[in-house]
Amino acid sequence: MRQIQADVVVIGGGATGVGALRDAAMRGYSAVLLERADLGQGTTGRFHGLLHSGGRYVVSDPESATECARENTIVTRIHADAVEATGGYFVTTPADDPAFADRFLTGATATKVPASEIPVHEALRHVPRLNPGASRVIEVHDGTVDGWQLVWGAAASAREYGASVLTYCRVTGIVVRDGAVTAVMAHDEKHDEDVRVDCSFVINAAGPWAADIAGMAGCHDVEVVPGRGIMIAMAHRLTDRVLNRCTYPEDGDILVPVHTVSIIGTTDVRASNPDRLDIPRDEVQQMLDAGEVLIPGLRQARALHAWAGARPLVRDTRVTDTDTRHMSREMSILDHAERDGLRGLLTIAGGKLTTYRLMAEQVVNRMCAQLGETRACRTADEAVPGSTAGVNYAVSNRLHDREADRLDDQIICECELVTKSMLVDVLNEQSDSNPSDPAIPSLASSATPRHVGPSLDDVRRQLRLGMGPCQGGFCSLRAAGIACEQNAADAAGATAMLRRFLGNRWIGLWPILYGDQARQAALDGWITDGLLDISHLPADEEVVL
Ligand SMILES: Cc1cc2nc3c(=O)[nH]c(=O)nc-3n(C[C@H](O)[C@H](O)[C@H](O)COP(=O)(O)OP(=O)(O)OC[C@H]3O[C@@H](n4cnc5c(N)ncnc54)[C@H](O)[C@@H]3O)c2cc1C
Repeated sequence: MRQIQADVVVIGGGATGVGALRDAAMRGYSAVLLERADLGQGTTGRFHGLLHSGGRYVVSDPESATECARENTIVTRIHADAVEATGGYFVTTPADDPAFADRFLTGATATKVPASEIPVHEALRHVPRLNPGASRVIEVHDGTVDGWQLVWGAAASAREYGASVLTYCRVTGIVVRDGAVTAVMAHDEKHDEDVRVDCSFVINAAGPWAADIAGMAGCHDVEVVPGRGIMIAMAHRLTDRVLNRCTYPEDGDILVPVHTVSIIGTTDVRASNPDRLDIPRDEVQQMLDAGEVLIPGLRQARALHAWAGARPLVRDTRVTDTDTRHMSREMSILDHAERDGLRGLLTIAGGKLTTYRLMAEQVVNRMCAQLGETRACRTADEAVPGSTAGVNYAVSNRLHDREADRLDDQIICECELVTKSMLVDVLNEQSDSNPSDPAIPSLASSATPRHVGPSLDDVRRQLRLGMGPCQGGFCSLRAAGIACEQNAADAAGATAMLRRFLGNRWIGLWPILYGDQARQAALDGWITDGLLDISHLPADEEVVL
């Protein structure tokens, strides 16, 4: 068993956990993060991609609106490489009440959310596909944010302050002595080794799984309800601005341009298990219909991929009084010293990715208070590594880079302009960690993954490989071949890697199989099954496609 010593252990490598790690490290605590899979593999990697301006909440939730407006500015500054400052519109479509725009503008002024009404013809000039029947348009500072890039940036910053990030380390227990937390037990699934981290404090940021973690410390009855939402990536940037319906928040009322695609979403349905999130076809149809209201003809675009994420909504039966029917969407911090008489454990859940830094600040403030210490938060003052002041991400960056090296560096993913050297660099980074790919096993059960080896899904998160129109149909074959050529895997390992990747892609493909994407899936099937007979090639593990 490996033993580590730290002041604080953070459980969960989503935005909230990585934010808390960075904050604690910047305040001088020795901090360790334990994540059961890859960073951003939970809700943070399965969200809508919107960096809220606050506009969505100016009428329904004024406090959140002000928080979002403030954090939008900070996140745009400190994570410039993860944010595209697209701007956004709140649009009164023919289906919406024009009077809501007046309430919106009043709310925006009251909550200090920058917003101004612009002529419809000006909006149509910037977004020609916008519903021409729109009667009012309000411009706001919405942006788009890459959740993975954001967590990697925050993790890199935390490491610079001495923190450790242990991915593929599943927490299995919390050791309690004399009414206080003393250690966290985990299993390192890369190296098949148990890990014990002795510590005096634990921040539980396990998102929709937070109740399981609290239960490990004997704190039961914490109810985190997974609020499932589905989203669909449509091919192309149908809009260069975030488009919101100017109405009270409802399903399918936002279209977000993210990298090379546009994402329509989302729904909100209680799920029973965050590891098993359905993508029902009726919700797919509901989203496509909703998208038509913002952009008539949206259905004619190709739906590339669908996925679901789970909002971690806290329903604490002991702390809240009577109204358990309405669950708060807000951030919740459970202080288990007050609630359960257990010192050294805080649970944080809820909130939004946009406000992740603020959530981290508030939970670390609570930790300092419990420890009787005063240490100031500095996370808003310093940009994360890789973020250049004043230079936000732009979708054309890769094209610009490829113009420079297109003759001597082979492009292996045309949809996302990934080159061979980019892939080789990521495979080299993976090779010492040898991560397993938990996506398929976690859907089946919480059992230990069956395979240890390189993962094209980890590559996907880093490079967007397989996220364009072919959904991996061409690039994954090349990538598996290159992995083999680079000795990252032998032939059987590369075949297993390819099968796992295609199997995971399929989860988000089958609910949207119509039109061009159905034709693409048929072509991909002919290549993988008809030409390569991939299901029967020797592989070093069984993966059912
Ligand atoms: C459909 C949907 C759309 C959304 N859209 C937006 C949006 O556009 N803008 C926005 O600002 N917010 C959005 N949100 C909210 C936002 O995505 C979440 O608030 C945020 O990502 C939550 O991050 P988290 O770190 O708390 O949880 P997670 O990202 O889920 O992180 C929890 C982590 O804990 C890990 N974990 C679980 N069990 C263990 C264990 N035993 N050991 C170790 N690790 C463990 C998990 O693997 C996971 O990585 C959306 C949410 C949903 C569901």
